[in-house]
Amino acid sequence: QIPNSLHASDIAHSIHPYTNARAHEAQGPLIITRGDGVRVYDSEGKEYIEGLAGLWSVAVGFSEPRLRDAAIAQLDALPYYHSFAHKANEPAIRLAEKLAEITPEGLNRAFFTNSGSEANDTVIKMVWFLNNALGRPQKKKFLARTKGYHGITIASGSLTGLPANHKDFDLPAIPVTHLTCPHFWKFGAEGETEAEFTARLLEELEQTILAEGPETIAAFIGEPCMGAGGVITPPEGYWPGVAAICAKHDILLVSDEVINGFGRLGTPFGCQKYGFTPDIMVTSKQLTSSYMPLAAIMVNDKVYDAIADHTARLGTFGHGYTASGHPVACAVGLENLKIIEERDLMGNAARLEPAFQAGLRAFADHPLVGEVRGTGLIGGLELADKATKQPIGKSGALAARVARAAQEAGLICRNVYDTVALCPPLIVTEEDIAQIFARLGAALDQVAAEAKA
Ligand code: PLP
Repeated sequence: QIPNSLHASDIAHSIHPYTNARAHEAQGPLIITRGDGVRVYDSEGKEYIEGLAGLWSVAVGFSEPRLRDAAIAQLDALPYYHSFAHKANEPAIRLAEKLAEITPEGLNRAFFTNSGSEANDTVIKMVWFLNNALGRPQKKKFLARTKGYHGITIASGSLTGLPANHKDFDLPAIPVTHLTCPHFWKFGAEGETEAEFTARLLEELEQTILAEGPETIAAFIGEPCMGAGGVITPPEGYWPGVAAICAKHDILLVSDEVINGFGRLGTPFGCQKYGFTPDIMVTSKQLTSSYMPLAAIMVNDKVYDAIADHTARLGTFGHGYTASGHPVACAVGLENLKIIEERDLMGNAARLEPAFQAGLRAFADHPLVGEVRGTGLIGGLELADKATKQPIGKSGALAARVARAAQEAGLICRNVYDTVALCPPLIVTEEDIAQIFARLGAALDQVAAEAKA
């Protein structure tokens, strides 16, 4: 790209999230100026298919006029109001009602935050508040998994089980135990069947609870299908087993559906794909297609009633954000969910799942690919040596090169550690999917040829 004044300004004044700052100074930004459906365009006019829907989030595509109109109408009517101390606004009320209607049975109440990280911080505080309310203040620990992603604040970043989020941040900062990542291909033992792997992970869960004491463990949090850790689908029977063990030890089950929610896996919510019912569900991203920042925590009556009874004694639930239930964000969220419903975009994900997954699996024999994974409209290629299952060369380097080559070929995807991840907008068509894989294939072949040379 030809440097221009925006490039120079970005290099001079910005600090980018998840970016090698010195490398950024050398290469500069890719400035996206416009979007149209599943495609975005950079400042030079070059077209890209957005194969990750932004950051796993733009369900309805990048140019939906109804979301713009919903935002403008709400800005005209009431641009801001808060929801502290009995105040309310219509979009927040209606969105909470809609979420109670469409989320699984029992999740009847919504609490709004601005981001997935804040939502998971809120979950931690709700669970602690609840256990204080129930007179068991020692029941505070969380169980999470390595490679799970739950955000980056001090507390939600502690739940995250990825090295980059802990290293040099002095995390975890809350009591959390990370269990084995439920990735059979990578962590299954020599000769172990998938069923035996599931049984081993469930035994690890049970033994961890017994060793630490069930009276000390408050909640288990997990993504039904892991996203940012590398698109990791769980082994058969894993989630119903986790749910049963949590129920047995009175441990709350939290489904982090920030990526999975609203049809991504071909079912409305990820927990439905894998057959479990959480006490708490966290949603964000596709809730507004990320046109506005918004997250919603859904809780069941058991959680709500314990919190409500305690607030009646204390006088308040001392937690909330200036923009909790922001009317413009909620109006956009409502309209976005209406579009998803009217255009049957969750059904589109289910209908296109076979074509998308088949397209991914066509790379199974590629020399750079160790494992192909995915479900619904999310997938990943783990680049690894097929025999050793170890990265080819320096961990992460090859996936970064493939993502870069894909970008040159007109496909934006994301390299997460050794995995190249795809998660296209839910409006994607079969033709778009064919183009995504043509561009990804060209990138893989180019990097393979360079690696050989
Ligand atoms: N939870 C999951 C499963 C996520 O994938 C993410 C973000 O990618 C988060 C939480 C954190 O959300 P945010 O980036 O909005 O803070």
